[in-house]
Amino acid sequence: MNSRILEPGQIQTLAQRSIPRIRLPDRATLFAQRAARFDALAAASSIGAYLHLQAAVARAQHAALADFPGALPTPAQRSAAQAHRMPPMPAAAWPRAPQWRDALTAIGRAVAGLADCPDPVARLGERVAALPADEAEAQADRLLGVRDGAVDTAAAPLLMAALQVHWVAAASRLVADEVRPLDVPGLCPLCGTPPVASIVRAQAPYRGYRYLHCALCACEWHQVRVQCSQCGASGKDVAYRSLVPDEDSGESAGALDQAVRAETCEQCHSYRKIVYQEKDPDVDPVADDLASLALDLLLAEHGYARASGHPMLWQAETDGAR
Ligand SMILES: [Zn+2]
Ligand SMILES: [Zn+2]
Repeated sequence: MNSRILEPGQIQTLAQRSIPRIRLPDRATLFAQRAARFDALAAASSIGAYLHLQAAVARAQHAALADFPGALPTPAQRSAAQAHRMPPMPAAAWPRAPQWRDALTAIGRAVAGLADCPDPVARLGERVAALPADEAEAQADRLLGVRDGAVDTAAAPLLMAALQVHWVAAASRLVADEVRPLDVPGLCPLCGTPPVASIVRAQAPYRGYRYLHCALCACEWHQVRVQCSQCGASGKDVAYRSLVPDEDSGESAGALDQAVRAETCEQCHSYRKIVYQEKDPDVDPVADDLASLALDLLLAEHGYARASGHPMLWQAETDGAR
């Protein structure tokens, strides 16, 4: 007989082979669905006006992405990155196509033109739409970690929105099978950016698997469940917390019924949100994370720090944030 007995490690390796390791964004739907999600979340939120504004930004991103040109890494660049276990289009080093500033202008104008837009927000939109090229590039360098310097925290969310368009334009044109996960599981295999949150998907072939969602290029990469995405701790060190009505501590079995939870870690005392499509098919890692700011406040009270920031939320460095 040719049958052979598999050791537990081999079984795990075989099982992992069948899991889609990488899920790339769909440029036709990513920002349109995010906009719809922001609008839906706004309806039931105490920060509804803010979430409607985010929906307008996402709609402008969707429009800007439609005809965004953008370059792709060449085959030589991709194999060099693979050989060195580096991301092929790193946020800090990948040349930015100047058209990202056209996306910025369009996003700024969309914000300025919103009906019922508060004056300061409209002025911000106008200022961002008219930002001189050298200032926009300098701010982008700071946001992407190319160089130090003061971040324009008011403009940062709109700048990040335009930079997302630039990176998603490339990520959405790559082939998932050709993207290799990095040795560092906490960084995006395409652009090296930390994830904003994670999502447990509900449709085949991703059903039941958890993916970390890149804050910049929207690439998603697989990570086993019940494992800290920051330090790798697992088992009893990892817990799930959510905003459960009638529950003072926010920590209970009730958390398991929620579509948005925080995965907390007792080893590194950090957390990232995790959203579940099986609880709500429309969840979006970026929109649901932003709409659940009350959960961040609760976790801060309990001594947990966000593992990484939200691309649409920037605080002045003097606040000690980020
Ligand atoms: Zn990325
Ligand atoms: Zn940890």
